[in-house]
Amino acid sequence: MFAFYPLLSGLSLYLPAPEMKRVIEAYLFAADAHETQFRSSGEPYVTHTVATATILANMHLDADTIIAALLHDVVEDTDISIEKISQRFGEKVAELVQGVTKLTKMHFESKAQAQAENFRKMMLAMTGDIRIILIKMADRLHNMRTLGSVSSAKRWRVARETLEIYAPIAHRLGMRHFKLELEDLSFKAIYPWRYRILEESVKKARHNRRDLLHKVEHALVKGLAKFDVAPDHIVGREKSLFSVYRKIRERGVPFAEIMDLLGFRIVAKDISDCYHLLGVIHSVFKPIPGKFKDYIAIPKANGYQSLHTLLFGPYGVPIEIQIRTKEMDEIAENGIAAHWLYKTKSNVEGIQTQAREWLKKVADIQKSAESSLDFIQDVKIDLFPDEVYVFTPKGEILSLPRGASALDFAYAVHTDIGNHAKEVVVNRHSVPLSYPLLNGQSVEIITDPHVYPEDAWLNFVVTGRAKSAIRYALKNKVMQADEHDIPLRAKKNKPIVVIHSHQGMNLDFAHCCHPIPGDSIRGILNSNHKVIVHEFHCKHLQELVQKQKHGKWMEVRWADQIAGFFPVRLKVVGQTTVGVIAGVTREISEIGGDIREFVMRENLQAESEMDLVVEVQDRSHLAKMIRNLRRLTFVKRVVRD
Ligand code: MN
Repeated sequence: MFAFYPLLSGLSLYLPAPEMKRVIEAYLFAADAHETQFRSSGEPYVTHTVATATILANMHLDADTIIAALLHDVVEDTDISIEKISQRFGEKVAELVQGVTKLTKMHFESKAQAQAENFRKMMLAMTGDIRIILIKMADRLHNMRTLGSVSSAKRWRVARETLEIYAPIAHRLGMRHFKLELEDLSFKAIYPWRYRILEESVKKARHNRRDLLHKVEHALVKGLAKFDVAPDHIVGREKSLFSVYRKIRERGVPFAEIMDLLGFRIVAKDISDCYHLLGVIHSVFKPIPGKFKDYIAIPKANGYQSLHTLLFGPYGVPIEIQIRTKEMDEIAENGIAAHWLYKTKSNVEGIQTQAREWLKKVADIQKSAESSLDFIQDVKIDLFPDEVYVFTPKGEILSLPRGASALDFAYAVHTDIGNHAKEVVVNRHSVPLSYPLLNGQSVEIITDPHVYPEDAWLNFVVTGRAKSAIRYALKNKVMQADEHDIPLRAKKNKPIVVIHSHQGMNLDFAHCCHPIPGDSIRGILNSNHKVIVHEFHCKHLQELVQKQKHGKWMEVRWADQIAGFFPVRLKVVGQTTVGVIAGVTREISEIGGDIREFVMRENLQAESEMDLVVEVQDRSHLAKMIRNLRRLTFVKRVVRD
């Protein structure tokens, strides 16, 4: 069973037996699904998914992730559906597989350098669960390790993409091990000769300097031994081939100078020891002025923390020193993955939350915004919460502020396109101009020279550019009208339905999706002349749209002040213990929610599953309720259904 036993023995170090059983099932399922497929190397295809899972098992990822890694190519490459995976291995696994499949489908072919940054952002933003990125990274790492057997054109393309997209993502997530290996493998694939020559030179230089390295290390240890503070350990650092290459190419540093520099990492017990050791080292060896950097006080954008200093070392060689704690060292090597590694005892969700919090912190550093915002649990991780990335018909990427509508997009492309926007097609479906755009969508605007801006447009654009263009056009229209003394409105304005409360004569809220104030919504006029309000992404409505069975679109929006309560569906999963129902219902009523329906059953994992319909004021009310429910110790999951 192709390399499956090593994976199993690795997993047995940290996974309980029932989880192991699920992994074995997934392996058999994957082996069966890929039975007739082979890699370019001639090996059975499943060796690739096993290797991907093994990389993740080395980082101690949870069973769902390992299972999803084993199944990650099943949906893309065989005729097995995502529903089947959901039935066999659960919703969470299906979600992970789905996410990886989506990323695999995104193509990065020879995009301009300038676009690479947007692709990386989009990839991260499109991913709700960081584990999807980790699976994709492991997948790419194994593909890079086995690049030797594919055609040279493909090899070059994949390596380029790895260098431009995946290695920088690994860097952003602080995964240094991944980043260095991806870079070196790409370098080797793109410039095989340069790689070989450099590899040999580095080997030779290292050999020549081996004695010196030992002498310097000895001097360091001896120098420190006189003081009362002792480092945990000291290690010599070696530069990766690609980083040497980049220094030579991009900064013109001569090879000899790069190799002359010796690097050491000192791991200390705690933060105060780090500074103490720094002081001691500076008293033993002279520091080179202007080279000290305190990344402990001010972490790097990817969360990296360490003290850096450059010394006039013994024997006249400059030495680079990094000082940090063990924890900082783990983060420096593995970044986000460090949250899984070394933490075998915590539960999966605890780790997820920690990882998210870390990521959130990193995102905050990157934005250099106000510190320590309360992490909002019901928001999916989103490194770039203020932006959405969408495609133009030509495949270019535009970034817009979150909440931007299709009309904002039109104005972002060109003022004339905005001014004459008549129809919008998003992912091949026709939508209203007010449609709020989502990450990854392809947007096309159909213009008509007879269409002109209307007052109502100002209600659903958010970008300054669109607003000022519309105002300018409206003012001009008035002026023209004055000049020629003709009626102002040549074209009838479409009415906008503004929702002030849950009660409304000609208004109904769809029961499939239960929209609440704050949700993006759209309205449909049905055959009884009633406007039915749906949540924007209501699956039921999407089905109707696909079948062309929906009625006429209506512009709907929430009023600024809305009275009353709105029903919404919640699913709460908790342990089966006494007091679950009482705890959940008390929590809901304490925050002022009203329970309309309540159904409870036990699921296959012997958990209590509760389906509720509760009445809330709006989204933030609901968010607060979900947050409070999640704090209950016996509650495992809460989702809006
Ligand atoms: Mn794959």
